[in-house]
Amino acid sequence: MYQLVIVVPCYNEEPVLEETNRRLLALAERLEGMEVATHILYVDDGSVDATWSLIHSFSTKTPTVLGLKLAHNGGHQHALWAGLEKAVTMADAVVSIDADLQDSVDAIVEMVEQHRGGCDIVFGVRRKRTTDSFFKRVSAQMFYRFMQSLGAEVVYNHADFRLMSCRAVKALLQYSERNLFIRGMVKTLGYRQGYVYYDRTERMAGESKYPLSKMLAFAWDGITSFSVRPLRLIMGVGLFCIFISFVAIVWALVTYLQHRALPGWTSMLVSIWFLGGAVLTALGIIGEYVGKIYSEVKRRPRYIIEEEVGF
Ligand code: UDP
Ligand code: MG
Repeated sequence: MYQLVIVVPCYNEEPVLEETNRRLLALAERLEGMEVATHILYVDDGSVDATWSLIHSFSTKTPTVLGLKLAHNGGHQHALWAGLEKAVTMADAVVSIDADLQDSVDAIVEMVEQHRGGCDIVFGVRRKRTTDSFFKRVSAQMFYRFMQSLGAEVVYNHADFRLMSCRAVKALLQYSERNLFIRGMVKTLGYRQGYVYYDRTERMAGESKYPLSKMLAFAWDGITSFSVRPLRLIMGVGLFCIFISFVAIVWALVTYLQHRALPGWTSMLVSIWFLGGAVLTALGIIGEYVGKIYSEVKRRPRYIIEEEVGF
């Protein structure tokens, strides 16, 4: 039978977890009618409330519910990674979903169908964001636009709600970087990718674990993990300054020859612009190398084979 594992990272989710478990078990029952055997894997990301004891009791009650407790709060991305590593050993496909079920559980059914239809990765995409606060909506959309303009691939309005086939997860797990920005990493894997659209609802209970400071840190992580364009920008600014300095030289010489220049002004003007430009260009060149070192130490796989024929 087709094995599905639903990975749910939880951090202090005591208020929602009962309801989450109820809904996921109902979904599992529905999936059984489609010849899908479902396991639910909760990853407790070092919670300090009763989250773990809840997971424990779910697991004793229902054998298909599994739990993993991390020794320390490492953040959503790391908890999810831990869950993926565990799930890949026992699944044909893995779905990741937040514990607050802001993402539609029903969409999982469609994800499974698309996986059976040949997609290796199915992204859950929010159709509307009317339930998010104005600020969250605007800041999130700005973030996606900004990422795209920096040349990092991200799926617009997709968070970490997705289905991945076993081989896609295995390929992802070959990425050995420590700064995780999973939604961007998954997009770079390739394979056949599909999309499921759903309306995001409000958090059932409890509060968001992503205050502004964490959101900004996450966005910055995403940008710096996926783009070396900021480094290139430095070089661009440097070259621009050097160009200005040449214009300034001509201008200063003309002024000097017309006897309109104050003593010392010409040399000051030209050297400030030229030196500034030279320093920035040098930084840009160093940046190029730092960027290379950065992509080397990430040690990502050079390629991932999708299919072979005729061997
Ligand atoms: N989460 C986690 N570790 C953390 C913070 C959050 O595992 O340090 C989990 C949290 O339990 C939830 C998911 O990440 O399942 C998304 O968090 P949340 O719903 O608070 O974020 P939001 O939807 O507000 O962006
Ligand atoms: Mg949420």
